[in-house]
Amino acid sequence: SIRVRFAPSPTGNLHVGGARTALFNYLFARSKGGKFVLRIEDTDLERSTKESEDALLRDLSWLGLDWDEGPGVGGDYGPYRQSERNALYKQYAEKLLQAGHVYRCFCSNEELEKMKEIAKLKQLPPVYSGKWANATEMEVQEELEKGTPYTYRFRVPTTGSLTIHDLIRGEVSWSFDTLGDFVIMRSNGQPVYNFCVTVDDATMAISHVIRAEEHLPNTLRQALIYKALGFPMPRFAHVSLILAPDRSKLSKRHGATSVGQFKEMGFLPQAMVNYLALLGWGDGTENEFFTLDQLVDKFKIERVNKSGAVFDSAKLRWMNGQHLRSLPSEELTKLIGERWKSTGMVMESEGSFIQEAVQLLKDGIDLITDADNALSSLLSYPLYSTLSSPEGKPVLEDKLSEVAANLLAAYDSGDLSSALEEGSAGWQKWVKSFGKSLKRKGKSLFMPLRVLLTGKLHGPDMGAGLLLVYKAGRCGVVAPRSG
Ligand code: GLU
Repeated sequence: SIRVRFAPSPTGNLHVGGARTALFNYLFARSKGGKFVLRIEDTDLERSTKESEDALLRDLSWLGLDWDEGPGVGGDYGPYRQSERNALYKQYAEKLLQAGHVYRCFCSNEELEKMKEIAKLKQLPPVYSGKWANATEMEVQEELEKGTPYTYRFRVPTTGSLTIHDLIRGEVSWSFDTLGDFVIMRSNGQPVYNFCVTVDDATMAISHVIRAEEHLPNTLRQALIYKALGFPMPRFAHVSLILAPDRSKLSKRHGATSVGQFKEMGFLPQAMVNYLALLGWGDGTENEFFTLDQLVDKFKIERVNKSGAVFDSAKLRWMNGQHLRSLPSEELTKLIGERWKSTGMVMESEGSFIQEAVQLLKDGIDLITDADNALSSLLSYPLYSTLSSPEGKPVLEDKLSEVAANLLAAYDSGDLSSALEEGSAGWQKWVKSFGKSLKRKGKSLFMPLRVLLTGKLHGPDMGAGLLLVYKAGRCGVVAPRSG
């Protein structure tokens, strides 16, 4: 049966790279009717924190990537935290020792350093010399009696090679000669990372290991341990790095990189998930808009690209707009309305105003935080106040004065207000006759009018905006010279 795992170390925030790894595992499991396991790799006790684990779980849940087994939900293969599995690692280490795949190494640190130096002088790879690989029972006994500290070393074949068929990268081969016998348990009894991962993946019956490319060098050691333990090897899929626009590895200096940060900034989880899926994957068509369910339906691990994917935050923002606008109308209204209420921009009682304002403004909103500016610019239609330089561009200055003078007259006479009073039809009629009197139409009428009435060169439908703010009694139009 198909079982995959996401195995984060709780030493920091969930970054976009980790989130994408989790997503690909999730999609693989869900598309194949398999299980998605969450395992917390907290062997580094100094750097692992509970807060970090909690945040990881929270961010994964926020993205909608629910796990079938793991912290919070349990399962038949627990415990799901490495720090709670020490007895198991011990047990398998002893098993490997009994079978001769592992031996005790009594070398001191100084000795190991010296070995490296000698190797360097001889221009050989800095691998363990094999000093204790073939020690006699007596030699070992002697050190044990002296109480000399020892590590457990894994016996690596000196010749030969290993090939795996990576689901993304194809054939990957390593030769054994530069590996050297490696430590699986330190002298303080602490198992090393590669050993824990292998024991866990094996005993949790993981069928497919989907993880970041940077773990590829670990795969050789893990594969050797698998064989020695006599467990069937899982299939591997190593996903490429996420790159910054300059094609360096994406890091903090490129801006927000953690899921939590994007959440804070107001991104929707469905947009995040959609965008993360496109980092290295596509369904083979032009389509880029996918819900999580659609992704489950379309996902194929073989379609994951083996070259690095560039993280483009502008595209993520655009995608967020797509998802925001695809929300059911009531949901979008609620979301944006709540935001406006929380910032005090609108009152609880202004339900229909909110609804109409959302409809009018939504095309200009990609991120929920954009809603603030959109509304405040609607509410600050500064009639006559920006004659000289709307948005800093003094482009319309000459043309404005003629229109402005007439607009002011229309305003003072009450013509404009009574037109707005009559709604959309009234506005249309007024604009037409206003244009006629000035012998202007099209752009030469609407551009200056827009600037005068809204203070901006661009914006949502001018008539609809004016009517809305007028109706709500919140418009600068009723008090043109005060602003
Ligand atoms: N704990 C590792 C990490 O956070 C994952 C190792 C793996 O997936 O095998 O990078």
